[in-house]
Amino acid sequence: MAQSSIEWTEMTWNPTTGCTKISAGCKFCYAEVMSRRLKAMGVEKYKDGFKVRTHEDALNIPYTWKKQKVVFVNSMSDLFHKDIPLEFIQKVFKVMNENGQHTFQVLTKRADRLLEIHNELNWTHNIWMGVSVEDSRVMSRIDLLRQTNARTKFLSCEPLIGHLHNMNLQNIDWVIVGGESGRKARPMDADWVLDIMDQCTAANVAFFFKQWGGTNKKKTGRMLNGQTYDEMPELNVEEL
Ligand code: SF4
Repeated sequence: MAQSSIEWTEMTWNPTTGCTKISAGCKFCYAEVMSRRLKAMGVEKYKDGFKVRTHEDALNIPYTWKKQKVVFVNSMSDLFHKDIPLEFIQKVFKVMNENGQHTFQVLTKRADRLLEIHNELNWTHNIWMGVSVEDSRVMSRIDLLRQTNARTKFLSCEPLIGHLHNMNLQNIDWVIVGGESGRKARPMDADWVLDIMDQCTAANVAFFFKQWGGTNKKKTGRMLNGQTYDEMPELNVEEL
């Protein structure tokens, strides 16, 4: 568990670590770089680097949080990776089900496996399920997400590396947009962002603009049309 600098969450919780690349959005995967770094630093949890691993001991962590949290689940992995057994995913969901005071944001690029097993998971109100959509080649993930029983559904269009015209946003609650950052960051066209914002407005979907990114993300910032866009779905949590 760690505080997060990610603008749309408060903290991260990683009951699994490691992954393999699946689409163009993975090219400069932050989790891969960080996992290798943590391995080199001798951090036990990352002793196998970026190989897919489950961590039973991490399942206890949410029970220890005193205040209500908004939590990004698996910033260092993809919970629906084929190498993570269904039984372990069910354990992660049980923890989320039993901690209704917290909001858990789960994000995957494996929307096909998500749909395959969604009936075997308990979708309590505090679980937000998202898919990454970095360009039009992976827009089909939206249709797969829409068919699941998740109560709150969102898209993470980050790193946005191509246009996303005419998305079907029916039953989608939230869209996050962000540009890639880092030394070799691929550029994001402002028109792509404005087009997504217009689509969200037309469909009455919450829109969150995370960052422009680029080689100096502090400098490029997160202003769009002279303002920030920080809309989010309503938290629907149990009282502590
Ligand atoms: S799915 Fe996510 S964690 Fe896995 S390689 Fe791609 S960007 Fe990295």
